[in-house]
Amino acid sequence: MDTTRSQELFDRARELIPGGVNSPARAWTSVGGTPLFFNRAEGSRIWDEDGNELIDYVCSWGPMILGHAHPAVLKAVQAAAINGTSFGAPTAAEVRMAELVVSAVPSIEMVRFVSSGTEATMSALRLARAYTGRNKIMKFIGGYHGHDDALLVSAGSAAAGHGIPDSAGVHPDYARDTLVAPYNDLAAVEKLFADNPGQIAGLIVEPVAGNMGVVPPVEGFLEGLRTITEKDGALLLFDEVISGFRVSLGGAQSILGVTPDITCLGKIVGGGLPVGAYGASAEIMKTVAPLGPMYQAGTLSGNPVAMAAGIAMLEELAKPGVYEELDRKGAALAKGLSEAFAEAEVPAVVNRVGSLLTVFFTGDPVIDMDSASATDRDLFGKFFHAIVEEGVYPPPSQFEAWFVSLAHTDQDIADTVAAAKRALAQI
Ligand SMILES: *Cc1c(COP(=O)(O)O)cnc(C)c1O
Repeated sequence: MDTTRSQELFDRARELIPGGVNSPARAWTSVGGTPLFFNRAEGSRIWDEDGNELIDYVCSWGPMILGHAHPAVLKAVQAAAINGTSFGAPTAAEVRMAELVVSAVPSIEMVRFVSSGTEATMSALRLARAYTGRNKIMKFIGGYHGHDDALLVSAGSAAAGHGIPDSAGVHPDYARDTLVAPYNDLAAVEKLFADNPGQIAGLIVEPVAGNMGVVPPVEGFLEGLRTITEKDGALLLFDEVISGFRVSLGGAQSILGVTPDITCLGKIVGGGLPVGAYGASAEIMKTVAPLGPMYQAGTLSGNPVAMAAGIAMLEELAKPGVYEELDRKGAALAKGLSEAFAEAEVPAVVNRVGSLLTVFFTGDPVIDMDSASATDRDLFGKFFHAIVEEGVYPPPSQFEAWFVSLAHTDQDIADTVAAAKRALAQI
């Protein structure tokens, strides 16, 4: 595969932009090599600057659930842009978009739109603090909620407890007030609540973890979190930036039957444009300015072009059969890949929820960050490069999800499985 042009661009980019990228996961740091620079995508396909065509399973890290350049979304974006790209004043599109979100997501009666998932989680934490009058928050090890200071916190040496900054520049006080526990470990959560009674404003969790690779919640985990938070008077925050509109129209909460207090949305909600959102009951949302004392704002929030894309996206997703089709395609890909690994006698597990999946090279179940980290990541890197050569673009990191879209055809999936088999034969 000729990647001359990507290599030239990467050299120039690295002179101008830190690491050559505007978001670190794009730099292929964990798999090595030169990231591909893309210039066009349509349906399930993406083309790099050298003209190589790949079947895309990154799908912009989730938003492109309809496939790239979907006609309904493009039409809505073009129609909106012609009327002006930003007013900084209320629009009918925001009202329509809010109606769609409120009717889809069980826990949301009122919603505020922002411009990214990070902004959504950051604002949602502020809301939890403002509403409860408490300061501490809790998150899970390996849970990613964007780059808000309070959430860039990891475990340090203890398995659970007060966190340590996960990034230079995070004030240690933030980390001190962020408690961390292993995912799927209710006992650890119970202990932290017992040690910090009445002090935790909110517990934030990806109801289907997507940023340690895909890790589903074990039976009873989310129900347990609901019970523990309710008993303590803390709020339960679902970060559905990946799972929202992905595992079902109403997100993980509507299929798993656990209702959080606050929900964070991003990725799909903007139809490929920059949108995030946080929502809750009207009672909680009345804390947000200008109704209440919690300030949060955004010059480009609810931007008319982004709202148009989001509306078109959600209207497509509300059509009958969409999630059955996504689930069927996700299942077919997971099954095909599992068979390819078994045939090649490579120990691997494929974790899947609907159209989200991750391949881990291990013989053991992956249920949390510890077990995800214990997998063979060198082998993942080799598999990644080999399958890219075969025309398939999976996420360039072990700890990310493969995203299947409605545009992936049965033939694409069969081709992907065949490419995996050829890749495995080479490594
Ligand atoms: C991507 C992601 C975020 C951050 O969203 P950005 O739009 O990148 O700021 C937050 N939470 C989860 C679960 C995510 O996957």
